[in-house]
Amino acid sequence: MTASISAGDVTRHKWWGWGMDDVRFRFDNKPAFPPLAKNKIGVDLEEITQFDDPDLADHEVPETRLKKPVRTALEDVVGAENVRVDDEYRVLHSFGRSLTDLFQVRSGHFERLVDAVVYPGSEHEVAAVLRLALDKDLVLIPYGGGSCISGSVTPDPAEKRQIITVNLGRMREVVSIDDTAGLARVQAGVYGPDLEEQLAAQGWTMGHFPDSFTYSTLGGWAATRSSGMQSDKYGDIEDIVRGMRVVHPEGTVVTKPIPGRDSGPSVHEMILGSEGRMGIITELTVQVHRLPQVRQVIAYMYPDWEHGIRGMHAIARSTDVSPTFTRLSDGPETEFSLAMVKEPTSTKGKVAAKVQDGLFSYLRSKGWDTDEEMSISYVCFEGSKETVEHQKSIVKKLVKGAGGITLGAGPGAIYDQKKFDTPYLRDFLLSYQVFGDVCDTGATWSNINEVHAKVYEAFYEAQRKQGLPGFMFCHMSHSYHSGACLYFTFALKYTSEDKALEQYLTAKRAVQQAFVDLGSTVSHHHAVGSEHQPWLTEDIGELGEHIIEGLFEQNDPGRNLNPGKIVTP
Ligand SMILES: Cc1cc2nc3c(=O)[nH]c(=O)nc-3n(C[C@H](O)[C@H](O)[C@H](O)COP(=O)(O)OP(=O)(O)OC[C@H]3O[C@@H](n4cnc5c(N)ncnc54)[C@H](O)[C@@H]3O)c2cc1C
Repeated sequence: MTASISAGDVTRHKWWGWGMDDVRFRFDNKPAFPPLAKNKIGVDLEEITQFDDPDLADHEVPETRLKKPVRTALEDVVGAENVRVDDEYRVLHSFGRSLTDLFQVRSGHFERLVDAVVYPGSEHEVAAVLRLALDKDLVLIPYGGGSCISGSVTPDPAEKRQIITVNLGRMREVVSIDDTAGLARVQAGVYGPDLEEQLAAQGWTMGHFPDSFTYSTLGGWAATRSSGMQSDKYGDIEDIVRGMRVVHPEGTVVTKPIPGRDSGPSVHEMILGSEGRMGIITELTVQVHRLPQVRQVIAYMYPDWEHGIRGMHAIARSTDVSPTFTRLSDGPETEFSLAMVKEPTSTKGKVAAKVQDGLFSYLRSKGWDTDEEMSISYVCFEGSKETVEHQKSIVKKLVKGAGGITLGAGPGAIYDQKKFDTPYLRDFLLSYQVFGDVCDTGATWSNINEVHAKVYEAFYEAQRKQGLPGFMFCHMSHSYHSGACLYFTFALKYTSEDKALEQYLTAKRAVQQAFVDLGSTVSHHHAVGSEHQPWLTEDIGELGEHIIEGLFEQNDPGRNLNPGKIVTP
């Protein structure tokens, strides 16, 4: 299949931050947000009245090390217009979107950039680029949307060889759909919205919606073991991807889209989450589902986190309901969410705000702490009208049984519409010398409250020791029979540019260390890359790490494929 677009048409982030140039986080329409920022992290948002975007011309961009014959050979494979060596492309593709990445890129810390970005248009071209890389001893870094937050697309600063990023963005087609099996063959470089649009045109959905949906790709999801907010119903990406085609140093690996398999250790699983080290994924066969007739998100409120977890657990173990997603914000996250609500301008909005005030004052009269403890929850239902109504009535009872109340569809709809806007907040906060970041882990229903409490302790202890105010909040999502994902967000204001990264990393390290100390995992769905590597041994054990090293060594002895990611080298 030949690509219908060229490099210049492929979606890309602004070079210094998340998403498109013209989208910004705004606080002028959110009256409760400035006081929250002031109270929690000591930031006066009125301090800045005009935001100037970073300008690449203010920074020195190191020259490409790409040699002429290599460039010519790459151009022969993909066409000259699909080989980019300009500064903006090289800077953009040398960083993912972790906080460390964003800070480095905005500050112009360009220690080692990739030397070129190539955009193959077919599996044949990917294979030719890989053959060239092996022949000339180049380093290749596969690239989807560059939304990774653990350093997975960033080159090793010590790398002496020429480094080429392979951007899969031209390979974006839904190739075919097997209507009977509900299996779609899709090229790896398709972005989330493009994929869902192509599927919806034929009445299907894949149901995978990570928060980074707008700027991440199917191939990237598979290569990082991604999980979307609707994983309760549709599964994590490893459940959705049934088969793959992967260009490998010695040929093409094909994992067949069979519903189940017992053919020894799963090669398919070895490639999932391998962050480009096992080859370049070119095509995936994924499970798709008919678009539901009705989709509704309902909001609930609990007096506190513990009551909420009781409700979430009751829903997870109920034999009568299977929601599309379940999510519980703890007290601080609920406070944050309420502060993000826009000032109502319509009569309907003003009435809703009055109703909310009345409800909160009633709850206070019943002994609820509506400022710090109250915990909001969202549950999504899909199916026929009858199924949705039936499931809602069961969940309503389960929530009540756990001490919660049903708020209804209004707040649920607001959550559903705003869910992809939050990433812009991190760029906004950096203008105020504030790091706002996330760390996620998994916990069982038996220890979820303990993990929740101890991670908080670890973060605030680290902040106390470094004498900086900090703010943390958390939600539970991605529910399973045995437990769920805990997703922590934290913010802190750094004191100076030279201390910034160390102050941020002190907080992040405390959180990550708490995860492994508590027997949890280094990350539920944010991959390992280079940034989570320090905790990998404690997560999977020395032997586990040794097995992975052996796999990569055998697979790519010349270390031409994204070396240094997950394990070193
Ligand atoms: C604001 C924000 C919110 C996020 N929310 C979520 C979330 O809800 N759920 C979640 O799972 N993640 C989330 N992430 C993390 C990130 O979006 C995921 O890791 C995502 O899967 C990366 O996809 P990508 O296409 O951007 O891959 P990239 O960032 O381009 O690449 C990630 C890794 O995959 C490799 N890779 C990419 N494409 C291929 C390919 N075709 N073949 C082989 N290797 C390849 C790269 O070499 C790299 O190692 C979030 C990130 C941000 C910044």
